[in-house]
Amino acid sequence: MVSRVIPVDPFDLVVIGGTGDLARRKILPALYRRFCAGQIPDDAQIIGAARSEMDDAGYRDFVGAALDEFAGAAGCDDRARFLSIIGYVTLDARGDGGWAALAGRLEPGRVQAFYFSVGPSLFMTIAERLQAHGMAGPDTRIVVEKPFGRDLASARALNADLAKYFDEGQIYRIDHYLGKETVQNLMAIRFGNMLFEPLWNSQYVDHIQITVAETVGVEGRGEYYERAGAMRDMVQNHLMQLLCLIAMEPPSKFDPDAVRDEKLKVIRALDPVTPDDVVRGQYLADGDRPGFREHVGNAESTTESFIALKVRISNWRWAGTPIYLRTGKRLRARTSEIDVVFKDTPHSIFGPEAGRHRNILTIRLQPNEGIDLGVTIKEPGPGGMRLVDVPLDMTFAQALGPDAKDVPDAYERLIMDVIRGNQTLFMRGDEVEAAWAWTDPIIAGWEEAGKDPIPYDTGSAGPEEALALMHRDGRRWREIRV
Ligand code: NAD
Repeated sequence: MVSRVIPVDPFDLVVIGGTGDLARRKILPALYRRFCAGQIPDDAQIIGAARSEMDDAGYRDFVGAALDEFAGAAGCDDRARFLSIIGYVTLDARGDGGWAALAGRLEPGRVQAFYFSVGPSLFMTIAERLQAHGMAGPDTRIVVEKPFGRDLASARALNADLAKYFDEGQIYRIDHYLGKETVQNLMAIRFGNMLFEPLWNSQYVDHIQITVAETVGVEGRGEYYERAGAMRDMVQNHLMQLLCLIAMEPPSKFDPDAVRDEKLKVIRALDPVTPDDVVRGQYLADGDRPGFREHVGNAESTTESFIALKVRISNWRWAGTPIYLRTGKRLRARTSEIDVVFKDTPHSIFGPEAGRHRNILTIRLQPNEGIDLGVTIKEPGPGGMRLVDVPLDMTFAQALGPDAKDVPDAYERLIMDVIRGNQTLFMRGDEVEAAWAWTDPIIAGWEEAGKDPIPYDTGSAGPEEALALMHRDGRRWREIRV
């Protein structure tokens, strides 16, 4: 049931930062899987570029080791064929060495994509050098990773820098959440079915919850995380994107700008969030496992590893339906889900003893990607009319059978979209800036209020105060569970 693979035209893809962690763990395995699926032709070229001195053979060994470690069960009979399309150029993003050699390796007349798999401080110098060496033509595409700025001013500066060399249509800002199968399914469910859309508004939806919970801490990323925190690392980008897709109006067509225009309208309709509607937390040590402050190396850190927020969208569709967001590390389970909680029926013909029942549409991003709709039915058996909620479960792995394993992961899909020139699943510059424009005052709000994060236990659902954020509205978070 998974669609046929259509090979892309031959292309050159340069991974700048090709020896880094992201390249090893995500980019190279994703390319390998697409090659094995028959989507990348044998005459495509993948070139790693970084500071380390290495030749093509050395880099092929490096890539082989990365695939052993991270490509999972994926594979094809001839790994050597994949490695034969891999090359390497030693270059310094801040200097001149290597750039002419890189230009000499590229084949004119085909798509040329440059994946900036380096920190944002190098984006500008790389863009300058691509242009200086004739590699910033109209058919060039660049891929940039998060974090895209750390506030509105820095995001604007980055956008302005890149705009000196590339049009918006050449810039692919990756948010890998948008490449997830279920996230795209959100659009299919909403706009491909008649069933949900008439109910998709404040008249029928009581509230929406979005939870992205992790069990790991910030091990190894302490330095970055201490400067970012959960708001910048997760909410401004990933949760914001989910919020946009769940709340946006139907675009007139499934076209990159039509979709992104609608997402932008949602971000612009978000109300400011007051400090009372924000709960921030920090995980405590757990036995031998260090706490957040040890991980970031700052005994007085005020950065949050957990955040919960109540968000309101001021437009006709959503006025009166709050959206609750929460994300954190070292929580009870690793799970990401969106729950659309419908309102109670206006009147229960079954009387008070039948209890309170609600329909909840749950969209699970991980694990077990899928959707389930909680419906109320009669509890089987004799006796009175007792009601019970049961899930109509559509776990993709079950519904799609063995083909489900062939569903490409987020990086596979997104990199192939870059090669195909489809920007629908990438963030536009104005979208990123609007998200920061909403985020900045929230951060300023807690900084001004001098509110420190609240400690929470590993394996919990975050600080108690996060539960109270919903309880005070007569609502409850869904359980964090696998
Ligand atoms: P990394 O430090 O592991 O790798 C950086 C790469 O850039 C290395 O190949 C290094 O040789 C190269 N490099 C650094 N300075 C250079 C220079 N002056 N000239 C040429 N090459 C240079 O970093 P990473 O974890 O791979 O992350 C890369 C980017 O992706 C960062 O912006 C990061 O925030 C982002 N990101 C990473 C992940 C992840 O899972 N690792 C996830 C999301 C986003």
